[in-house]
Amino acid sequence: MGSYNIAVLKGDGIGPDVVAEAMNVLNCIGEKYGHSFHFNEKLAGGCAYDVYGEPLPDETLEACRNSDAILLGAVGGPKWDHLPANLRPEAGALLKLRSSLGLYANLRPAIIHKALSAASPIKTEIIGDSLDILVVRELTGGIYFGKRGTRTGKYGMEAYDEEAYSEYEVKRIAVQAFEAAMKRSKRVTSIDKANVLESSKLWRRVVTEVAKDYPEVELDHMYVDNAAMQLVRNPKHFDVIVTSNIFGDIISDEASQITGSIGMLPSASLADGAFGMYEPIHGSAPDIAGRDMANPIATILSAAMMLKFSFGLTEESQAIEDAVTKVLDAGYRTPDIFSADTKEVGTKEMGRLICEAI
Ligand code: NAD
Repeated sequence: MGSYNIAVLKGDGIGPDVVAEAMNVLNCIGEKYGHSFHFNEKLAGGCAYDVYGEPLPDETLEACRNSDAILLGAVGGPKWDHLPANLRPEAGALLKLRSSLGLYANLRPAIIHKALSAASPIKTEIIGDSLDILVVRELTGGIYFGKRGTRTGKYGMEAYDEEAYSEYEVKRIAVQAFEAAMKRSKRVTSIDKANVLESSKLWRRVVTEVAKDYPEVELDHMYVDNAAMQLVRNPKHFDVIVTSNIFGDIISDEASQITGSIGMLPSASLADGAFGMYEPIHGSAPDIAGRDMANPIATILSAAMMLKFSFGLTEESQAIEDAVTKVLDAGYRTPDIFSADTKEVGTKEMGRLICEAI
């Protein structure tokens, strides 16, 4: 019986709709297994800008620091698109949260549930009836955080962005990937561009060194251009993928599209130790906000990842995943994954059905 403090940042658009259901599901788990989850709700994103004039107020960051884990909906929307980059919800809240809290490991499972295999844009003979890939992306280093600027060059103005990785940064993300692989089918593919980039050569050398500590795990290396092709040609080749910030940004979006349902995919951003931030991979979907149409499953599965990675509650996490599978197998679908022979339900009813299944 545990007691856990969760900072809840519902955010903008459909964020409040889907996070409310994830909180209900956590409460159901609390009741069934005797845990108490204390939710500390704070503003982040456009809604915080409207009140405080900044997307990540100190009060919110402080609440996050003092929590055991963070549950986030989504931030951003057209209302705040005109703001300068540092005040825009995505950069001002998300990037700041990641860097301030040392959330360097982004885990994004791309899973196709058997009941939804027809939603994949890939042919069934390639995909089979299910797929389960885990992308482990480095999140606080590389080109998105490197030196950048403009200068005058031979042909006039130039702009540059620097990709730099330290051995330390590569080692810690590789360890996260190998640890995850030990709990799965013990295969890691490291994606780089070591035929061209110095930073990738270092990446490959360090990942190969870390692999020596995990003799049971099979490691292969793949250039990013080939990996982009293999993901659609032979996705079953992959189990755990580990890669840099920029390659991971692109590859994890490609992997998520293979599943065909953006409303289903969770993510975790982990720091050293047990602390992490959990959020769906989708955005704030302003087109359907507040209309009881959003699929809450990505956020509910993010809460399941929180139980597993931050609280060590493996059985409880599995109970959520099993409940989601049960509800999908029973034919219930939100509008984004609805098809002719299934039963359409709204956000709230989907959340209720998952609680009932738990
Ligand atoms: P989006 O993911 O919000 O929406 C893309 C499409 O998918 C839309 O048609 C939307 O209705 C649908 N969709 C997304 N989530 C859904 C769900 N749970 N259920 C049903 N349908 C769903 O991407 P976008 O339209 O490019 O971005 C909208 C806003 O969100 C932008 O301001 C963007 O910057 C922001 N954004 C935030 C995050 C984040 O907070 N992590 C991530 C991506 C985009």
